[in-house]
Amino acid sequence: MANQQTQSVADQHTKLAKELQDVKLYIDGKFVEAEDNGTFENISPFTNETMNNIASGQAADIDKAVKAAHKAFKGEWGKMKQSERLDYVYKIGDLIEEHVEEIALLEALDTGLPLSQTKKQVSRSANNFRFYADTVKSQMYGETYQVDDEFINYTVRTPVGVAGLITPWNAPFMLETWKIAPALATGNTVVLKPAEWSPLTANRMAEIIDQAGLPDGVFNIVHGFGETAGDALVKHKDVKLISFTGETTTGSTIMKNGADTLKRFSMELGGKSPIIVFPDADLDRALDAATWGVFSFNGERCTANSRLYLHEDIAEDFVAKLKQRVENIRVGDPLDESTQVGPLIKTEHYENVKSYIEIAKEEGCEVVSGHIPEELSRGNYVAPTMLLNAENDMRVVQEEIFGPVIAVMTFKDEEEVIEKANDVEYGLAGYVWTNDIKRGHRVAHAVESGMLWVNAQNVRDLRTPFGGSKNSGIGREGGYYAFEFYTEQKIIHVAIGDHHIPQFGI
Ligand code: NAD
Repeated sequence: MANQQTQSVADQHTKLAKELQDVKLYIDGKFVEAEDNGTFENISPFTNETMNNIASGQAADIDKAVKAAHKAFKGEWGKMKQSERLDYVYKIGDLIEEHVEEIALLEALDTGLPLSQTKKQVSRSANNFRFYADTVKSQMYGETYQVDDEFINYTVRTPVGVAGLITPWNAPFMLETWKIAPALATGNTVVLKPAEWSPLTANRMAEIIDQAGLPDGVFNIVHGFGETAGDALVKHKDVKLISFTGETTTGSTIMKNGADTLKRFSMELGGKSPIIVFPDADLDRALDAATWGVFSFNGERCTANSRLYLHEDIAEDFVAKLKQRVENIRVGDPLDESTQVGPLIKTEHYENVKSYIEIAKEEGCEVVSGHIPEELSRGNYVAPTMLLNAENDMRVVQEEIFGPVIAVMTFKDEEEVIEKANDVEYGLAGYVWTNDIKRGHRVAHAVESGMLWVNAQNVRDLRTPFGGSKNSGIGREGGYYAFEFYTEQKIIHVAIGDHHIPQFGI
């Protein structure tokens, strides 16, 4: 029976994969093969079979894309009126909105993320374009500085040029839109190097932008590997800025490689975020948030609350309830709307996450895992997992696992938990649960992270600065903070009186 079920569920993936076309690069308004005709295989996380072939860009393709982007920047796009440019940005948002179901399905097929979750991400992606078009209209303004009656000095913002965008596979479509939308809305042109493990929706983005009718060269995609296509983009002299989201170690390599050409960088890197629960909190809501925050998106979430700190007075009860949740989480086919956790993106990543569960055992944790239905044996499934009796100095507490795994620890008082929360190299997000308003603010101030939520799950407000501190990132994206990165600020000094000019050589 299980075998029959395995077959029928896998058949759906295989059938959909057969309908996929091979993916090309998108350069200068055309879908093209790589210069050397190279390709790589795109593998299903559910069946581990090849779904289609992807053109594998190299330095020559990056160079072609950058030249096209540079030409568009100097030409039609650079000269276009802002309102006309923003109309294109709105149009992209509208087209995404029209195709939410289809893009969400592609994303689930490609990444193993549950369909119900990719649908929400894709809808938010459409909104990112509208939001940035609105924000450029309403908030991209300069400042004036009056100097007595001699000068008026004012600032203007101009686009930087060709933006190189490098993105990860964990929420590929949405994270791409977080970069493409502000880059285009502020007037730059783009070369995107999407993650090699999740190329399908990036390709769909190229089709949508093509359909929106943007001038040739404004938006380009070069698929390929980080060490080849990504590296060439980072080192290209005509690429003025690199917005990168991915692992901390990759970010560091990229910064070194971009130094010779003096790149401007935005770095959104890894995380190991704490969730701290005090006894006076609304414990039912804290349980909902802790469970969702680490097991949604298959645990492949940069802001996942992967370290749970429970006050010792409530720990036993909270852990018992969390165990029930872990056992009940619906692990399943990502294309099934009721699935809560799907397969991890790739066997390499699966092996890595599994190895951390073994490390946890060696380090002395009690490991409690949920269930994987038998018929899912072909996919890269890791059951939702709790690591009990964890200690701060363990590798499983210090290192990013990036899967459905939560380390659970206890604390006695506020001082101790703040020290533990801060005792990691990362500083992306943090979550505090307490009904003591003073303590909520105090702990929020004290936890070293770029973003902190009090009595809340990770609800994003697009207007606010997004990014990490410590090894989790450099710079902020989101709202008008993105303008700091995607625009050049220029100060213009205008004399309106006869200020003193020293006279040499008279
Ligand atoms: P990764 O660093 O392996 O790859 C990210 C991208 O960088 C890919 O497109 C890859 O091809 C490219 N790349 C790799 N080596 C390169 C090189 N030498 N030069 C140029 N490009 C190169 O990351 P990943 O495994 O795809 O993503 C998971 C990581 O991303 C996790 O650490 C996660 O926390 C992080 N992440 C952070 C945020 C955030 O906002 N801070 C959001 C999502 C994911």
